[in-house]
Amino acid sequence: MVPPIKEVVIVGGGSAGWMAAAALSSLLAPKDMSITLIESDEIGIIGVGEATIPDILNFNQLLGIDEGEFIRETNATIKLGIEFIDWGRKGDRYIHPFSSHGVDMNGFDFHQFWLHSRAAGNTHPIDDYSLCAVAARHGKFVRPDPNPRSIRSHIRYAYHFDAALYARYLRAYAEKRGVRRIEGKIEAVIQAPETGHISEVRLENGDTVRGEVFFDCSGFRSLLLGQTLNVPYKDWSHWLPCNSAQAVPSQHSGPLLPYTRATAKSSGWQWRIPTQARVGNGHIYSREFMSDDEAASVLLAGLEGEALASPRVIRFTAGHRQQFWVKNCIAIGLSAGFLEPLESTSLYLIQEGISRFIALFPNASLPDVFRDEYNRHMQTEFEQVRDFIILHYSATERDDTPFWNYCRTMAIPESLQHKIALFREGGRAFRLNDELFSRPSWVAVFLGQNIVPKACDPVVAALPAQEVLASVESMRRAMIEAARNMPTHEEFLSQFRKTEVA
Ligand SMILES: Cc1cc2nc3c(=O)[nH]c(=O)nc-3n(C[C@H](O)[C@H](O)[C@H](O)COP(=O)(O)OP(=O)(O)OC[C@H]3O[C@@H](n4cnc5c(N)ncnc54)[C@H](O)[C@@H]3O)c2cc1C
Repeated sequence: MVPPIKEVVIVGGGSAGWMAAAALSSLLAPKDMSITLIESDEIGIIGVGEATIPDILNFNQLLGIDEGEFIRETNATIKLGIEFIDWGRKGDRYIHPFSSHGVDMNGFDFHQFWLHSRAAGNTHPIDDYSLCAVAARHGKFVRPDPNPRSIRSHIRYAYHFDAALYARYLRAYAEKRGVRRIEGKIEAVIQAPETGHISEVRLENGDTVRGEVFFDCSGFRSLLLGQTLNVPYKDWSHWLPCNSAQAVPSQHSGPLLPYTRATAKSSGWQWRIPTQARVGNGHIYSREFMSDDEAASVLLAGLEGEALASPRVIRFTAGHRQQFWVKNCIAIGLSAGFLEPLESTSLYLIQEGISRFIALFPNASLPDVFRDEYNRHMQTEFEQVRDFIILHYSATERDDTPFWNYCRTMAIPESLQHKIALFREGGRAFRLNDELFSRPSWVAVFLGQNIVPKACDPVVAALPAQEVLASVESMRRAMIEAARNMPTHEEFLSQFRKTEVA
């Protein structure tokens, strides 16, 4: 019989490394398997990655993490969606909420009724029918009601948190479950001559750490998969031209908003992510269109509170490694690839990599078919997220800068062209192949960026427009009423806050 895996090594202690360590130590509950994580304090972690999507709740639940403790320890706030400003046209503003819009009726999508109601004079944007969007605008939050008949059951949420505190929190969780942490810098990665598998890593102090399976969570360095196994990088920068970021925290000014803000700028966009103690800000831009100095000025001019540090520059290339799992090495996190944080998908892709590995958890023979399946799955995940992010750039009418002219006129993947055409012709939007972003997300961005269908569903179009208008209007009012009756975001958080926030 093939023996089980006995030695797992995780290289890197950023969010990816500690998420992997926490999940492996908890979900596999290894008795005869050691898990060792190596991280270098000198190199440190990337320290961004603070906005999430609702899937993070599944991860926390699987790990049995208590929500109150999590919010307190990571300085978390609630996120109900993302507000996009100036994307389709300057002056535009819409929310991509985590909840759906309205309620589907008789098997037809709500947005078809909304489209038809416009014929009867409805001028309310689709956002006004999403409970998350309405609550976000009112600064309100309540946990979803488990009763599906309650309007509050529509709430879906995620968190903003402090990335360094998140890694620290997961570290404590994983160490409690037996993960051994080694602090030190790896200076050499040794491969077995006959198989090319990674057999051990050597630290600067001369110590070596052996393993049968290695997780490369070394960040953009991609120390094992990229540098050692030479797996090439698939570059998508022709579709996602931003290649630089500058990040800076700032003081709070005004109420704690339960959503992320993404404001389009002349050669990219700026994020605003409120955590309990401060606001995380960053400017994502393309160096082909803007210098670093100009990008820093744009960032600082866009802050709402006083900057708490100087902007930090980070370089990246959109894309991913051609394989994610090669020989006995699985890359998770930035070492595997990176798509800019416009839809906060990186931590989700880490989560997906870990759970797919656990679903395929092999014995020591590491079957090729498991590797192939893992690589196929992760490639599909990256491609689907890629298309959704490209949509935000390509569906613009902005022609005020060379950057936006490039984005507006660039060729886009066929898979995305197909989705846009389906929506433009008749408002059709489907969730294909179990993709991350479901219909309401696509509809939010299509409509938010002025892709309005030529016609609505013919069955819905045959209904009396005034009756449809009355029906959607009652839903809109119900959303406002429900949001009004919720506690404020601040009130919700106050029950979990530390008495003194660091
Ligand atoms: C500008 C920007 C904004 C982002 N915003 C978001 C967001 O809002 N939401 C989201 O989901 N994601 C976001 N991300 C992505 C997110 O930050 C990362 O996916 C996440 O932090 C995981 O990073 P990591 O653990 O892969 O890498 P890192 O945090 O860089 O960790 C790498 C680890 O490897 C170790 N290491 C490297 N080399 C060696 C060596 N030789 N020896 C020993 N140890 C070594 C380092 O010490 C470190 O511990 C963003 C990324 C960027 C660049």
